Amino acid sequence: MHDSFFHYDVIVIGGGHAGTEAALASARAGVRTLLLSHNVETIGAMSCNPAIGGIGKGHLVKEIDALGGAMAKAADHAGIQWRTLNASKGPAVRATRCQADRNLYRMAIRGMVESQENLTVFQAAVDDLIIDGDAVRGAITQTGLSFHASAVVLTAGTFLAGKIHIGPTQYTAGRMGDPPATTLAARLRERPFAIDRLKTGTPPRIDGRSLDYAVMEEQPGDTPRPVMSYLGSTADHPRQVSCWITHTSQQTHDIIRGSLDRSPLYSGQIEGIGPRYCPSIEDKVVRFAEKDSHQIFVEPEGLDVVEIYPNGISTSLPFDVQLALVRSIRGMENAHITRPGYAIEYDFFDPRGLKHTLETKLVSGLFFAGQINGTTGYEEAGAQGLLAGLNAARHTRGLEGWYPRRDQAYLGVLVDDLITHGTSEPYRMFTSRAEYRLQLREDNADVRLTPAGRELGIVDDTRWKAFSAKQDAVAAETERLRGLWATPANALGREVVDTLGVTISRETNVLDLIKRPELDYARLMTVPTLGPGVDDGKVAEQVEISVKYAGYLDRQREEIERQQRHENTPIPDGFDYANVRGLSAEVLQKLVKVAPSSIGQAQRIPGVTPAAISLLLVHLERAR
Ligand code: FAD
Repeated sequence: MHDSFFHYDVIVIGGGHAGTEAALASARAGVRTLLLSHNVETIGAMSCNPAIGGIGKGHLVKEIDALGGAMAKAADHAGIQWRTLNASKGPAVRATRCQADRNLYRMAIRGMVESQENLTVFQAAVDDLIIDGDAVRGAITQTGLSFHASAVVLTAGTFLAGKIHIGPTQYTAGRMGDPPATTLAARLRERPFAIDRLKTGTPPRIDGRSLDYAVMEEQPGDTPRPVMSYLGSTADHPRQVSCWITHTSQQTHDIIRGSLDRSPLYSGQIEGIGPRYCPSIEDKVVRFAEKDSHQIFVEPEGLDVVEIYPNGISTSLPFDVQLALVRSIRGMENAHITRPGYAIEYDFFDPRGLKHTLETKLVSGLFFAGQINGTTGYEEAGAQGLLAGLNAARHTRGLEGWYPRRDQAYLGVLVDDLITHGTSEPYRMFTSRAEYRLQLREDNADVRLTPAGRELGIVDDTRWKAFSAKQDAVAAETERLRGLWATPANALGREVVDTLGVTISRETNVLDLIKRPELDYARLMTVPTLGPGVDDGKVAEQVEISVKYAGYLDRQREEIERQQRHENTPIPDGFDYANVRGLSAEVLQKLVKVAPSSIGQAQRIPGVTPAAISLLLVHLERAR
């Protein structure tokens, strides 16, 4: 019997950050979607630090938002301390970050999942996939239920064969307090996927009432307070609180050094490689032996809970060492630990086995997203989830897959890096990973992606109207200013000189005044004839950035066009590189291994030389 309870278009496995964005995107794209997850209560749970955004990561959150996703909206409803990082630097590297109330965040995500049309949730542990030939057909739960669909998105996070380490103690778990996905991991290992192990870690949590904040440095949020979603406002934010800063001491480092023989990281017990940019405290003490102190951010876990997250002391040392090292930190002398820190090892798939759409090359209709692709972080997971969910929905309708290019989005950079280079350590996003940084700013993620999202059917009317109104306002204000000229003799020129104390030596367009390093939009609007200008700060920001950086942006656009000429030249599926005359054995081996889908992707494989690309282009041209 074809019972619709068991039949869907898309099934998403896992209700973490990748899974919820995947399920929401698939449902927004208009297909019947089922989200299967271990526990409805942990949908949207933050496994580690309750914070969203940061450098590179904030860019991804804005991109998720620009494509209609959930993460930025949830952050706006949960953010209890907000900062603009790199505020004094150029707009390309400015980034929004918020400390989130863990429970408010989870509830906001759950609320969006539960109110999404076309989306159904069922609590279940998935033990196996249904695969027919080379195509996925559904999933089987631990209790023996079979759910059917023509596309499946797997987002199992750190749960696949997850193993927790605290000192010499080890046990299987998906993360602390949650079961691992052991059977599913075993089933997947029976298939020819390239699977390896990675590890990540988390610090102990502490009862904030046992801390002495008087000796710590207070870190209140920024004023003006940033928001995450293009549709958000500070009115969405809950009550605001401060974070605090303290430091490890020489004694802390001595305790750690004296216990390294009991550290699973150094005893060889942990085989998986951990995140380079988020190292454990034992790693930091060993690697930076010359430093006698490390900074620790003391971050509240929420408004109505007492626990704090001591950011900077992730550890898998034995519990007695954890207690001693925490109590050696200034202001933590009487600390009460509520949960121990730990490391977790888990299975991940070599992302070179994926297409740009995040569909696996091995199994048609099967998509992978999030931590299982070798990444770390909620933002990296959410962005992949959205892409995989969207493409899963398109797959079920026989539509071509979609993905952004490297010059279009950090999401494009993320996916292209992963599927081209693979990863040997948990991959996190940085602005330095993007070659077209000036183009890929937080402030213009909507300009870059919302029109595409609208066309793909995942941006709703409310967002589209708000976006269109903003674009119209930016264009109108730019035009207004373009029509205004200041000369040494005219009234406007004299007003500009009197108000701003600048010199005007010849006829100057107002847009050119914005370009002057000592001037900006806000200052110019204090000139009576020019002001008050637009009152929407986002519109003003766009006018200013597009005018001030026009020269750099134009140059970067030219560079992108030059690169693009061959970027999209496709390389057919199953292309036989052995037929290309003149390729060295090394280059041939690399091309066969990655099997790039375009010349652009081939160019980025380390060791593939421009000469090899020319040979490839000549061959493709001849074969046409
Ligand atoms: P997850 O958030 O792990 O979600 C996976 C979901 O899938 C869960 O809901 C789970 O219940 C469900 N699931 C799994 N298997 C099954 C199954 N078989 N059937 C049904 N449901 C299933 N990130 C950082 O950026 N910095 C850090 O320092 C950091 N430290 C971390 C430390 C620890 C201990 C852990 C656990 C994570 C850490 N992270 C860190 C990573 C961050 O939590 C993840 O990157 C992010 O949560 C990944 O999102 P995801 O959706 O891929 O997976």
